Amino acid sequence: MENLLTSLVNNNISYTKDGNVASYIPELSKTNPSDLGICVVNLDGKEYGAGDFEKNFSIQSISKVISLMLAILDNGQREVFSKVGMEPTGDSFNSIVSLEVKNPHKPFNPMINAGAIATTALIGGNTLEEKIERLLEFTRKITGNDNITYNKDVYLSEKQTGNRNRALAYFMKSNGLIDGDVEEILDLYFRQCSIEGNCRDIARIGAVVANDGIIPWSGERVISREVSRIVKTIMVTCGMYDASGEFAVHIGIPAKSGVGGGILASVPRRMGIGVYGPALDSKGNSIAGIQVLQELSKELDLSIF
Ligand code: GLN
Repeated sequence: MENLLTSLVNNNISYTKDGNVASYIPELSKTNPSDLGICVVNLDGKEYGAGDFEKNFSIQSISKVISLMLAILDNGQREVFSKVGMEPTGDSFNSIVSLEVKNPHKPFNPMINAGAIATTALIGGNTLEEKIERLLEFTRKITGNDNITYNKDVYLSEKQTGNRNRALAYFMKSNGLIDGDVEEILDLYFRQCSIEGNCRDIARIGAVVANDGIIPWSGERVISREVSRIVKTIMVTCGMYDASGEFAVHIGIPAKSGVGGGILASVPRRMGIGVYGPALDSKGNSIAGIQVLQELSKELDLSIF
């Protein structure tokens, strides 16, 4: 497996030149565009990595999978999906248009920014600090990594420049889709997006979801089989934003990307995969990361379809 992963990185590293690192969050523009790494975590706990798989990166929208799981654990699926839909959009991840023109006004799904802000608003805790601590603790549990935390510089950078997300959140507040203090909800959202991890960390989350909600290395159940099914389904239909359909056709694996360059993938009952390559395509997905996943999916026949 390690040899296969190494050749996937070598075969696809040239694609990193075709993309650009995210710069709308200024701190993310400091990443090295030619990084590429992959890690596979099997459900028997075996782990394999190649390339820059141990390098930490900003998980960004991959955190939307984590906050969705926690919001459902805290509120139940009925409450969560009364605030956010389950439908893919053909719009970009930070689009505002459908919030106003579609009725009901709730965001289409929890994998786009508006939907994630609505799910993050449902995370339990008495104070902002308690909420972020709960989110971090949950992330530490499903990655098996006690050192998981968020990057302050990335958080502040996003807080300073996140006016688009601010607009989405205030719009949703005006429609009654989020309760509470909007700035506090945004603060929690910005911190969750700035959580750092490496390919192994996100591959482990993928393995928990692939294993129907049971942590492979400890045997502990963290989410029900049903919630794990919901998360995988929403990843397939919405996880790669407006490239989800194409990704499903060519790769066929539930996955969630982030503008930090990570992709978390979860092959039901087989493995979790973490990929990192910060050069992005025009839709905000890792350009070389997608190629690596496509080759791996073909090689190991991973498509669920
Ligand atoms: N923090 C980013 C934002 O809100 C997350 C976007 C992403 O990773 N696609 O814009």
